[in-house]
Amino acid sequence: MQCNTGGDAIPDSLSVSKIVTCHRCPRWLYFEGAVKFVESPGYTVCKQISYYLGKPLELEKAGIWQEIETILPSAEDATRILFEACIESCTNTSWRLPDEVDVPVESARLGIHGRVDKIFDGDEMSFAIVRSNEPPAAGVYATDRLRVACYAACVSETFGVDVDGGYVEYIPGGISRYVHPQPRDRRAMLKAIKTAKRVAAGDVPGKPMKAPCDICPHAGRCQTLPRRLSDLL
Ligand code: SF4
Repeated sequence: MQCNTGGDAIPDSLSVSKIVTCHRCPRWLYFEGAVKFVESPGYTVCKQISYYLGKPLELEKAGIWQEIETILPSAEDATRILFEACIESCTNTSWRLPDEVDVPVESARLGIHGRVDKIFDGDEMSFAIVRSNEPPAAGVYATDRLRVACYAACVSETFGVDVDGGYVEYIPGGISRYVHPQPRDRRAMLKAIKTAKRVAAGDVPGKPMKAPCDICPHAGRCQTLPRRLSDLL
């Protein structure tokens, strides 16, 4: 982190998605501030299917597609193909039915908030987040570990219960994987929160040594921003 050029106040609370973006690259978060979020068709498909997991998908399939067409009136063939593939992948998995979906949660202590996709309110409360990408060969992606660590803190504080971890539902792969956040995940969370708050307050982040530039949509703009504090002086 290099230089506060804006002098804005540090925000009280940031969304979990911003914290995850900052973990990926603080500079990515810096650029994202000016970009309006647009939901991808792939996410719409996965999100609508996720509401029905735990029910017989073949019976629900026509209704789910109607909902997707309502949300995306100009859905293209590729969207239908993805929908069919996701239904097929998810059909043979045993899914747990949630007690609540799309639940707003927050941690005032950490200054983060979000909307958790599913809450399971059994003997031990748990939750799930829905992802629209393919799962890794084993476990979950580092960014999803961080998401779960953030949501575990938010769910815990919102409902006043201990939450051990949460599930990541990779819809295209038809897989749900449980994550039990470790101290290193919570350390990464704290670091990302701290950095994200400074970016939100106007700091210009430096370019990390290991940044995922090959998948970054801001690579063009990034080249014109100074790399380090010394470049600004
Ligand atoms: S191009 Fe690389 S350094 Fe720049 S914002 Fe993207 S990921 Fe970060």
